[in-house]
Amino acid sequence: MASFIIQVPNNLRTFSVSASSNGSPSPMSRGNQGGPVILELPLDKIRRPLLRTRTNDENKVKELMDSISQIGLQVPIDVLEVDGVYYGFSGCHRYEAHQRLGLPTIRCKVRRGTKETLRHHLR
Ligand code: ADP
Repeated sequence: MASFIIQVPNNLRTFSVSASSNGSPSPMSRGNQGGPVILELPLDKIRRPLLRTRTNDENKVKELMDSISQIGLQVPIDVLEVDGVYYGFSGCHRYEAHQRLGLPTIRCKVRRGTKETLRHHLR
């Protein structure tokens, strides 16, 4: 898998890449390889085309709500970005747990794709 490095000054103790809920969020850096980046995205900026065709396991969602509220999200959800629009096809339980906890954003592993990639996911 391709990786990227963000160079941060030594005297900076905390660092985060985030996206605001107004305007369209865009990764600050993708490195030379165009590999995935970790972004904190507003829930309402992530389209979920398969939402109505899948039902989440209620127990899993509740367990995740407990865990996320205690220790935070440990593994980001996978998100596809096509022409500046974000699509989520997995991570359904983590997404719902965030919704139900009233959290405004969710940590995402964002990779860029083409319309063809998107069509493949929708098939
Ligand atoms: P999802 O539909 O979100 O993938 P699953 O129940 O299939 O839900 O998997 C839950 C995932 O959430 C696992 O990959 C687990 O590692 C991850 N995860 C991230 N943060 C947490 C957390 N705080 N507590 C429990 N699992 C977590």
